[in-house]
Amino acid sequence: MNAEIISVGTELLLGQVVNTDAAIVAQALSGLGINLLYSAVVGDNADRLRCAVETAISRSDLLIMTGGLGPTTDDLTKETVAAAAGKKLALHEESLRRIENYFNEKHVSENQAKQAWLPEGCTVLQNDNGTAPGCAFQAENGCTIIMLPGPPSELAPMLHNYAVPYLAKGQESVIVSHNIHIYGRGEAPVAQMMDDLMDGENPTLAPYAKEGECLLRVTAKAPDAKTADEMCQPLISEIRRRLGDFVYSLDIGSLEELVVQELLKQGKKLACAESCTGGLLSKRLTDIPGSSAVFDMGCVTYANAAKEALLGVPHDILERHGAVSEETARAMAEGIVKASGSDLGVGITGIAGPEGGTAEKPVGLIYIALSDGKDTWVTKRSPIGRTKSREWHRHCAASQALDMVRRYLCGMPVVADYANTKQK
Ligand code: ATP
Ligand code: MG
Repeated sequence: MNAEIISVGTELLLGQVVNTDAAIVAQALSGLGINLLYSAVVGDNADRLRCAVETAISRSDLLIMTGGLGPTTDDLTKETVAAAAGKKLALHEESLRRIENYFNEKHVSENQAKQAWLPEGCTVLQNDNGTAPGCAFQAENGCTIIMLPGPPSELAPMLHNYAVPYLAKGQESVIVSHNIHIYGRGEAPVAQMMDDLMDGENPTLAPYAKEGECLLRVTAKAPDAKTADEMCQPLISEIRRRLGDFVYSLDIGSLEELVVQELLKQGKKLACAESCTGGLLSKRLTDIPGSSAVFDMGCVTYANAAKEALLGVPHDILERHGAVSEETARAMAEGIVKASGSDLGVGITGIAGPEGGTAEKPVGLIYIALSDGKDTWVTKRSPIGRTKSREWHRHCAASQALDMVRRYLCGMPVVADYANTKQK
């Protein structure tokens, strides 16, 4: 089954609203094994909308419309789509009752009532979070058309609770995807290593770059989810074999999520002493629900005096080696373990830029230390290639710290021989 999406709204064309509806619908279609071939945005203009809808109906088996179902005059999706599909609108009494109940009024205004007028003979998709119902019906040429409201808080539940079950009835296959998350190897070398595995048709393998990371997605299509899942497994095993401990998770979407899970499993606690990352590592860890059981404290010690006072970094080390040095990172990690009584401490110090770099200590030079109170490991990130943003350096330093913690917790060598790092 080939599908397309048309999202309606001038605000989308102006860039004032990001088209998240299309992404939500696209993910649901992929889960149903429906091929999405086009996704378009059209402004609130009846002529252009009609033209786009006619084209879509003529070439696709399924058209999903988002937005423009509401009460205002610029909400013209239903009228336009119904006309293009050769349908009349008819009053749906039950939807009118629901709108009256929603407003707690016996007679709602004409424009509110307009929302209960739907293509005749359609399946009504109830709106549990707003007033405008959605609908599903067939155009004269057999193309299935589904209309969903614009606000994502209304669209997502209607899609998942009513539209997906409606579509699933007609589907002969499901798609199952697994994501293999990789840290320490970029997308290009990973793709090269997997070159001979990329041509498969079922399952398929595709690489995706993430900020400072990458992932491989394995996708299989089968009559049921169990079979599709089993088809993915041999390929996943082969990828894991080739990448070894650069694979940090299967289907756990971030390093911080994995680290929190591992700390929870092992009953260990972590504390962070951050300078150039300004608390980003602590933020990423505490973004994960349940992190309060494993995250002890985070200190943002920007000034040397704060490093000395809160972490006990010796004045002499700061004098002799500077704040951005292996020795300072080490002392920060060891200092935060002492200050917090945690099992593990991380220290990060570096130059995030864009100013502040020198020939000896350039922007992007960052030292990351991990201490368990007994041993301490330090990694040095040196800037390579094109100039990167302050955000990029901070994000990557936090990721690298998380990877060190992950390796420690999983019993792997803490500092791997990454292309742009050097063991100290
Ligand atoms: P309403 O009853 O709220 O008018 P509607 O179905 O008519 O709903 P629109 O008028 O098109 O929907 O959009 C209402 C709001 O929903 C927009 O202002 C925007 O905030 C959000 N919205 C609409 N379309 C999208 C989209 N494709 N992606 C994300 N948000 C959207
Ligand atoms: Mg509207």
